[in-house]
Amino acid sequence: MPDDLVIARPEGLYCPPGDFYIDPWRPVDRAVITHAHSDHARFGHAHYLAHRHSAGTLRARLGEINLQTLDYGEVIVHHGVKLSLHPAGHVLGSAQVRLEHGGRVWVASGDYKTEPDGTCTPFEPVPCDTFITESTFGLPIYRWPSQAELFAEINGWWRTNAEQGRASVLLCYAFGKAQRILHGVDAGIGPIVVHGAVEPLNAVYRAAGVVLPPTLRVTDEGVDAALLQRALVLAPPSAHGTPWMRRFGNYSDAFASGWMQLRGTRRRRGVDRGFVMSDHADWPGLQQAIAGTGAERVFVTHGSVAVMVRWLTENGLEAQGFKTEYGDEDMEAPTAASSHPGLPLAGEGATALS
Ligand SMILES: [Zn+2]
Ligand SMILES: [Zn+2]
Repeated sequence: MPDDLVIARPEGLYCPPGDFYIDPWRPVDRAVITHAHSDHARFGHAHYLAHRHSAGTLRARLGEINLQTLDYGEVIVHHGVKLSLHPAGHVLGSAQVRLEHGGRVWVASGDYKTEPDGTCTPFEPVPCDTFITESTFGLPIYRWPSQAELFAEINGWWRTNAEQGRASVLLCYAFGKAQRILHGVDAGIGPIVVHGAVEPLNAVYRAAGVVLPPTLRVTDEGVDAALLQRALVLAPPSAHGTPWMRRFGNYSDAFASGWMQLRGTRRRRGVDRGFVMSDHADWPGLQQAIAGTGAERVFVTHGSVAVMVRWLTENGLEAQGFKTEYGDEDMEAPTAASSHPGLPLAGEGATALS
């Protein structure tokens, strides 16, 4: 419609009256970035705008960029469009983008999660007429365990391994998930060792005031076979099956991801354990978040777009899909589901909607 505050363009989601993009996937002049995951924050834009807690992670990935930052709730006006950022509860610095112009209010969610996790500002519903939502886990089968249940499981696995003299290698995305695990585990069980891809992100979180237990690198003095037998080791999924893992000898491995809810994913990953853990809202979370905005119109950007659109339409909302190129950071590993037909694919949101 001509009055829309956000439309889909080949470069990304575009705000016509404001002349800027939200999380564009091609280089543009002005990009509002919801968070620093690589499919949302890309190289090559002339100007970036993001939450101030995204500055560290954006610069760690993109180097010296022309970046303006905002606090949550701080309003700026650009070409008559009032723009503000609001907590999305996804990773450190993640934000929903609220746009107000000509009496209309639109909110673009980026990625979000409704349960607070202690490592980023919890999600807040922002009232709006039109809500642009993700739907990465937009199927009724996706229901996450509570944080307490999840960490009881992880702690139990680690404790048993430590008692039996085995390292506990937990594969998880380096930005967001690793810091949630560090924040949530019982650090009294044993030492914690992190892969080189994880520690720079830990530093950004600690600088933002997030409490994380002490972490060691495998190259640190005192990190020997005896220590590793009791350790929790956090590594990105791409480390799985590489020579880096050999130093852990007889270890137990596990993978932390929302996809672990699916029977068969853990087996295909070739790990001993799967922990159901996601930085995205589960099915009830998506419904709760969408209802919380009071929006009458909903656009769905990535994930299970068709299912979510149908559900929203059946519930009396005006809903449609937006074609985007967002992926899913859970699926970065070489052994990811993209090489296994029959699983929800990392790129599903990029191609499967109209
Ligand atoms: Zn994300
Ligand atoms: Zn995403």
